[in-house]
Amino acid sequence: MEWFKKNREGVAGGEKKEIPKGLWTKCESCGEIIFVRELEKNRWVCPKCNYHFRIRFSDYLELLTDPDTWKEYDRNITSADPLRFKDSKRYPDRIREARKKTSLTDAVVCGTGKIGGRAVSVAVMDFSFIGGSMGSVVGEKIARAIERALERKIPLIIVSCSGGARMQEGILSLMQMAKTSALLAQLQKKNLPFISVLTNPTTAGVMASYASLGDVIIAEPKALLGFAGPRVIAQTIGQELPPGFQSSEFFLEHGFVDMICERKELRRTINLLLEYFSGNGSPRA
Ligand SMILES: [Zn+2]
Repeated sequence: MEWFKKNREGVAGGEKKEIPKGLWTKCESCGEIIFVRELEKNRWVCPKCNYHFRIRFSDYLELLTDPDTWKEYDRNITSADPLRFKDSKRYPDRIREARKKTSLTDAVVCGTGKIGGRAVSVAVMDFSFIGGSMGSVVGEKIARAIERALERKIPLIIVSCSGGARMQEGILSLMQMAKTSALLAQLQKKNLPFISVLTNPTTAGVMASYASLGDVIIAEPKALLGFAGPRVIAQTIGQELPPGFQSSEFFLEHGFVDMICERKELRRTINLLLEYFSGNGSPRA
């Protein structure tokens, strides 16, 4: 016996209206429907609530470096599969798929360019490649970006966006934390500036190594920052955590981040800092 027959056509409002893809998008924070072209012009920042959408490495390079000055290095360093790791997929398959999807070879792009006419060594992470995770390739490329800064005596800028170490490479991923941190100590000895930019999200192994070792640490507004997830921390320390404790704003308040900088001000801010570090007087606001 049928008690109830679902009549789809009779439901008020009908089917959910689809937003045509590519033309309009919905703000992940405030829900505002925004014209994609307007969002693009606004550097992928919501005009209503200032939410910073996650952007690609290429957007940051375009935003930060002077036109026609970018030169990429170490594009062809590739991951091995030392643990023969398999979760839902084999690790080499996962890498192959990520490459196809993102046109990247791994989760960071490194090279040199100019900002305001000054030569800089730059590394930009990209979350779309396996969550921006740091395996031995990311570690090696970051290490080489630091070495380039050392060799050429130029400042280093790293834009981080990462879920942390890449579990598929086990302890080899964790070793990258020590490797990059040791090289950054050399940079410091030579008095070469390192500006670390934290974007949404910068967490775990990346946060606990190079991302938090900048001479100046800049964060984008409302980025998720931290080491472990809130539940793990709450269980470990047996205490309740204050609201919003893993945000850029909380980190600024507690001295972990030096400044929060909106994306549209990022280039100007870095430029001022580079001017300051170069010894050409104090930066103008
Ligand atoms: Zn919004």
